[in-house]
Amino acid sequence: MTGAITTVLLDLDGVLYVEDDPIPGAVEAVEALRGRGLRLRFVTNTTSRSRAQVASRLARLGFTLPAETVLTPASLAVRRCGVVGHKRVKLLVAPALREDLAGLAQVKPGERPDAIILGDLGEGFTYEVLNEAFRCMEAGAELIALQRNRFWRRTDGLAMDVGAYVAALEYATGKEATVVGKPEEAFFKAALADAHDEPGHALMVGDDIEADVGGALHAGLSGVLVRTGKYRPGAEERSGVTPTAVIDSIADLPRLLDEGLPAPAAPSASPLRRRVRPRFGPAA
Ligand SMILES: [Mg+2]
Repeated sequence: MTGAITTVLLDLDGVLYVEDDPIPGAVEAVEALRGRGLRLRFVTNTTSRSRAQVASRLARLGFTLPAETVLTPASLAVRRCGVVGHKRVKLLVAPALREDLAGLAQVKPGERPDAIILGDLGEGFTYEVLNEAFRCMEAGAELIALQRNRFWRRTDGLAMDVGAYVAALEYATGKEATVVGKPEEAFFKAALADAHDEPGHALMVGDDIEADVGGALHAGLSGVLVRTGKYRPGAEERSGVTPTAVIDSIADLPRLLDEGLPAPAAPSASPLRRRVRPRFGPAA
């Protein structure tokens, strides 16, 4: 029996594929889940590719799915603006993401936005840009960050990531950003709102014990860890996160659902929220 699970959130990189190779049995597993009538959402933290680009990459690897079922931080930022009722926004994001944010009306020069959407600006993170964002926040704009990773690894070495600038703006304004990427609760809530489902009926499958599984458990979902992708033996013990179940790969998920999930563990304690932030990014 499949228990009460009606929605499955699937991480992409490391769960469905590694680099350009699908995980053996992954294509069939996704079809099997779909065949059981489960609502599937494909969730990724990418802030450099649009959901159409993500969907077409998946199609090349053999996974057929509607682009609307791919959930990225950008698509969840759009949902957030709709829910809160933001009319005009200011976009501080990579050019490739603009198509996913095209539904949002942007401010004209001199206007104050209701929200700032902050993503990867790279060299564009100048004092002027940050100070303008600071002023908008002081005037009441919500800061919606697509992720808050501390740094990432470039070919020439480590590089500061968006999280450092989010922290700077939070510090200057004394206001908290809304972060719409994993492992934030807002990410999982928005993904479930998109699927019209509740945390108690949802399952997240990921290869990242903290961002995928820890984040999901904290948000009240079940969290299944796969031993593919970035998984390394002992990850459960090192992280202090206890997955609902651990399986060798996504290929085992249909059988796990047939057998029934173990009873949910007690909700994670709040300190997890700080600890589960990934140290490297951007992670797909
Ligand atoms: Mg992954």
